[in-house]
Amino acid sequence: MNKEIFNEKKWVVIAGPCAAENRNQILESATEIKKTGGDILRAGIWKPRTNPDNWQGSGDIAIDWMVEAKKNTGIPISTEVKDIRTIDIALCADFDLLWIGSRNAQNYALLEEIGKQTSDKKIPIILKRGFSSSLDEWIGSMEYIYKNNPNVILCERGIRGFSPDTRNILDLQTAYLAKQQSGLPVVIDVSHAAGRSDLITPMAIAAKAVGFDGLMVEVHPTPATAKTDSKQQISLDDFDRLIQTLNRIPDSRTIYGKK
Ligand code: PEP
Ligand code: MN
Repeated sequence: MNKEIFNEKKWVVIAGPCAAENRNQILESATEIKKTGGDILRAGIWKPRTNPDNWQGSGDIAIDWMVEAKKNTGIPISTEVKDIRTIDIALCADFDLLWIGSRNAQNYALLEEIGKQTSDKKIPIILKRGFSSSLDEWIGSMEYIYKNNPNVILCERGIRGFSPDTRNILDLQTAYLAKQQSGLPVVIDVSHAAGRSDLITPMAIAAKAVGFDGLMVEVHPTPATAKTDSKQQISLDDFDRLIQTLNRIPDSRTIYGKK
């Protein structure tokens, strides 16, 4: 891959579990997501948790599961890198796309480092928006990566609000401004914005209809037993229904003329 995966031809769907929990979960997710039409498999390997006593992800062993999933199905693989050590590991394992999570969105040393370490291969780097970042802060963070690797994709994943009804507020307004101002692709992570599975389909429809470049969505073979974010993950069957629904929504990226 695949540095061309985010291009004007295709609306990109990045799907998979919040966290890689075991080999079977990853292999099953990869097979079904690929069959359904997902473009890239996602799974967190090193989970940034609010409390150090919480489960921190499967760690390095999960690299093997992701690599095996790619080998079996051909689906490109992606994960979140948490620090400089994990950048090295993911690059050695030939991951096709890496992302910087919301909690690290203003970790300038890490942003600069990932740009440097990917400057030769120019693999795509997704920069999630910090959950309290303004547009300028988000764009400024992007530039730390961009100066060494311009293959950056922005990801809106919701900002902190006041209401307990949803985990975050999906801020399509600022996401749209980010797309206009940066000229970069923007994908929408509906799962971390909503925090609940019943909002995934309507918000994904909105993201596609507005003209964003793709979707990130958490999909798990058995959401109820997921070790992390169980309320917001959708089943493989629901993912299939989501993709069928989205196939009926026009790709709106060309409506505004040039991206
Ligand atoms: C994730 O995508 O696994 C994640 C932790 O998301 P965020 O950084 O947006 O909270
Ligand atoms: Mn998650």
